[in-house]
Amino acid sequence: MNGTAPLDTLADFPAIPAGWAYLDTAATAQKPQVVVDAITRAYGETYATVHRGVYQRSADMTLAYEAARTRVARFIGAGSPEECVFVRGATEAINLVAQCWAGTQLKAGDRIMLSMLEHHSNIVPWQMIAERVGAAIDVAPLTADGRIDLDAMAKMLTERHKLVALAHVSNVLGSVLDVERTVALAHGVGAKILIDGCQSVPRLRVDVAALGCDFYVFSGHKLYGPTGIGVLWARPELLDAMPPWQGGGSMIDRVSFQRTTYAPPPGRFEAGTPHIVGALGLHAAIDYVDGIGRDRIHLHETALVARTREALGAINSVRLLGPADSAGIVSFTIEGVHPHDIGTILDEGRVAIRAGHHCAQPLMEAMGVEATARASFGVYNGPQDVDALVAGIERVTRIFG
Ligand code: PMP
Repeated sequence: MNGTAPLDTLADFPAIPAGWAYLDTAATAQKPQVVVDAITRAYGETYATVHRGVYQRSADMTLAYEAARTRVARFIGAGSPEECVFVRGATEAINLVAQCWAGTQLKAGDRIMLSMLEHHSNIVPWQMIAERVGAAIDVAPLTADGRIDLDAMAKMLTERHKLVALAHVSNVLGSVLDVERTVALAHGVGAKILIDGCQSVPRLRVDVAALGCDFYVFSGHKLYGPTGIGVLWARPELLDAMPPWQGGGSMIDRVSFQRTTYAPPPGRFEAGTPHIVGALGLHAAIDYVDGIGRDRIHLHETALVARTREALGAINSVRLLGPADSAGIVSFTIEGVHPHDIGTILDEGRVAIRAGHHCAQPLMEAMGVEATARASFGVYNGPQDVDALVAGIERVTRIFG
């Protein structure tokens, strides 16, 4: 593949049949054969537990599991693999930070800054911990084109704010956060900052050191990897100071009924037998994504977003949501048609989109809609998928008059 040719990766994805336009990558990405093969090989040829075995197979699997962690660290610019904790996904990562960091660092009267476009998994864990410690939550508003309004947020931030937690890329609008500026604003009032990278790691180059954030989280399954595996990255001094998350095997140093001591990070936060094969699948997925290059992926998806917005924008009854430079996502509504009906009619034409609130009910309320239709792109999509979507939408508008 050269650096400028359009992506042509459809053949890498065994679960995408010919003529099916899969436009729900923001929910979960399809898996390339190399990821399926890595999982099959791990269960079918090399399987054993990690971190415990005295036999060679287990020692080899431990090396493979830790190699996946090293690969993750390199992928996101972490200073060392020990800064990367394997979790079930972004949801678990945020809950971990909420319970173990915020739960011990925040006190009554402290404040947490979120934004109007956050996914429920970057809202509810903070509500739960805020209620427990007596902290309050503030919500940064959005600009007219659906970005987090950083000017407004700058005016709202005070020294009472101990944490800012925001999506790098919105899963509904595709708007991209200016992370460097946000980090400067958060650190300017002494707050820590968590970035939800679910929608950014598959398409934007992420270097946590350059971004300057304190926590970064993402899920493997949106990155062409398996479900059930994700990553919490945190600054080492923050992880060191955090108490354990769940108790059990692997997270300990020594256990006795008198006193138990804990392992250093990341083991301290990985109680129990981990998702060994998930980590190996994630490794393969990262190799796959880096093999294409995130700059190319972003460019490819940007062209698909532009084609979609242009075609749908020409249909009178369609209301496009979010900014024109959205990263891989086009949300829209059609006057007088419920998004579920849009989704059902599109499915009849073999176009798969998501319709609903996208786990962002506060955002729906702010936009004055109950739900949206959302087309989201991945490396396997091409102009033919956009054309199928547009043909389907024309059919919807004909049906609904
Ligand atoms: N944040 C964002 C922006 C997301 O898009 C998602 C998944 N839709 C999540 C968090 C939650 O990820 P998961 O369900 O994999 O834990």
